[in-house]
Amino acid sequence: MSTGKAAYAENNLRVESFPRMVKQGNVCLIRGLGPTSLKSIYGEFQGKRFPMALSEQNGTYEGLLGIDLSTRPATYEIKVVATDEGSRVYSSTLSLKVERVNFGVQKLSLPSSMVDLDAKTLERVNKEERQLEALFQGFRDERLWRGTFILPVEGELSTTFGLNRIINGQRRGPHTGIDLRAEEGAPVLACNSAVVVLFDELFFSGKSLILDHGWGLYSMYFHLSEALVKEGDRVTTGALLGRVGSTGRSTGSHLHWGIRMNGARVDPLSLLQLGKYPVFDTSQEKR
Ligand SMILES: [Zn+2]
Repeated sequence: MSTGKAAYAENNLRVESFPRMVKQGNVCLIRGLGPTSLKSIYGEFQGKRFPMALSEQNGTYEGLLGIDLSTRPATYEIKVVATDEGSRVYSSTLSLKVERVNFGVQKLSLPSSMVDLDAKTLERVNKEERQLEALFQGFRDERLWRGTFILPVEGELSTTFGLNRIINGQRRGPHTGIDLRAEEGAPVLACNSAVVVLFDELFFSGKSLILDHGWGLYSMYFHLSEALVKEGDRVTTGALLGRVGSTGRSTGSHLHWGIRMNGARVDPLSLLQLGKYPVFDTSQEKR
């Protein structure tokens, strides 16, 4: 891939995705190569915009796109639209193939008090769900995340992303995060820079912390024994957020780590995979 000036001589915008084919429930990096003087640039997937911006590399624009785990496997068109200082508009499209994932099935037996909810508890659960959905609709223009994402806790992966759950013989919603087994009290770290937007005790997820990384990216840390930050705090990658616990609907001490990206439920491990591609990585160009 040439990053020389000649590549943009005709003022076109070239778009590529990493990886080239993306799995359901994964994140991909969309990169545009175009004029260095763009005033604005964004991508569009299924009629929804996602933000892009100039990377620290000249003429390279980047954005992250989350593909929800329920996205139908097919080839989709990604459109990137840019405007330069002279109000000239550039646009380019890319075909992105979304591949089917066999997420598997998890059968669980839980105390019926945690599954067959009485009317009052059901009302609480529905209200909490609506609260979280409203939160994830929020969009912070500022991109707080930088560079590589990290695993928030040292622990064995005990439940993978996307598993279709059958609880006490009844089909329930998929597992939209990953579970990392760790001892009660183990430190839970911020996967990237962010602002704390929620700390609350919720019925299913127990003591729950949510970070807003900007640009529609949120990370969730559930079942904590305690939080060591509060709503409104700014944190950087690796900051101590709280401690592992087993609060809420949990059968043992672990961290449930979840990611929402522009509303899409994606596998947190796919964010770590992006480390293979330098995303807004200044270290790559100071050679
Ligand atoms: Zn979980």
